[in-house]
Amino acid sequence: MSSLIHSISNLYPCTDCRTDFKESVKRSPPEPHTSNKQTLQVYLCERHNEVNRKLNKEQFECDPKLLDERWRTGVKGCDGGGLHPE
Ligand SMILES: Cc1cc2nc3c(=O)[nH]c(=O)nc-3n(C[C@H](O)[C@H](O)[C@H](O)COP(=O)(O)OP(=O)(O)OC[C@H]3O[C@@H](n4cnc5c(N)ncnc54)[C@H](O)[C@@H]3O)c2cc1C
Repeated sequence: MSSLIHSISNLYPCTDCRTDFKESVKRSPPEPHTSNKQTLQVYLCERHNEVNRKLNKEQFECDPKLLDERWRTGVKGCDGGGLHPE
């Protein structure tokens, strides 16, 4: 997983994204966070929030329960901003 994250920081096609992500990975290396799913998802959420700040988008609360609800157990698809309870 660490190798994948480092590779993205070198290969991401968008130049600005790649440059900033590379800096982010240098400041906050993935290695201590890749040993389990929970620490990894929080780590990735924090990197995503850095981009959100840069783009003046809302911050996402990097709570593992909320991340699971948003990305694993909530409504299927990637376009929702949150859950749609039955
Ligand atoms: C490594 C990397 C670097 C990037 N750098 C740039 C850049 O420099 N400039 C640029 O314009 N774009 C960048 N992007 C793309 C940017 O993050 C958005 O994905 C893109 O702007 C499309 O916006 P969107 O609103 O469709 O999706 P997103 O902003 O990605 O939002 C999609 C969904 O993700 C959820 N979400 C939001 N924040 C978080 C979070 N912190 N953790 C988990 N879920 C969250 C929300 O529910 C939202 O509905 C980068 C992407 C990556 C993977």
